[in-house]
Amino acid sequence: MPRHVDITIPKSPPPPFPLTIDYVNIVCGFGRGSSDLGIPTANISLDQLPPEVQNLNTGIYFGWCRLKPTNGYKSSVQRKDGTSVEFNNGCYLIDTDLEVLPMVLSLGLNPFYKNQNKILELHIIHKFDSTFYGAQIKFSFLGYIRPELDYTTKEDLIKDINLDIHIAKKILDTEPYKSLKINL
Ligand code: ADP
Ligand code: MG
Repeated sequence: MPRHVDITIPKSPPPPFPLTIDYVNIVCGFGRGSSDLGIPTANISLDQLPPEVQNLNTGIYFGWCRLKPTNGYKSSVQRKDGTSVEFNNGCYLIDTDLEVLPMVLSLGLNPFYKNQNKILELHIIHKFDSTFYGAQIKFSFLGYIRPELDYTTKEDLIKDINLDIHIAKKILDTEPYKSLKINL
């Protein structure tokens, strides 16, 4: 069953939000977001992030983000499972992909997959025509949606992520959350 809890998001971002993180690199994860769930997430390695973020509670957050292509040659990286990932550094991103975009972010141990390490992943609420591994992303945490939950089925996890996306879109369309977009 997806969750029943109904959350109340404060009228304006409570401290420590807005918490803005300057451009960090998008790395490659296990590739399960797209292939398994149909919800790709840009993974960020936590050691690039300040202690304020490392100390946040695990769970789902929302906010705004902005991508930036980086210079450099394209390269390929092999995942442990043998699949290959192209690092194109965001060279295929078009103008509309480079605007400030809404996102939901997961910080945690991903109990569903029994991960060992804390990981931070952002799902950008936007349709991209290509991947952008190796690009950089700047983002702003504006609030907390829910804790990490353990799911018994993949379908329930997907339903909940879609609910998170719905909640994030709705809040980001209201003031003052909407105007905080211009700070990125
Ligand atoms: P990984 O485990 O390597 O992060 P995913 O299946 O989660 O693999 O896919 C993530 C990649 O998909 C991102 O790094 C990015 O290049 C691409 N991508 C495409 N669309 C999106 C999106 N809407 N939000 C986040 N990443 C996306
Ligand atoms: Mg991912």
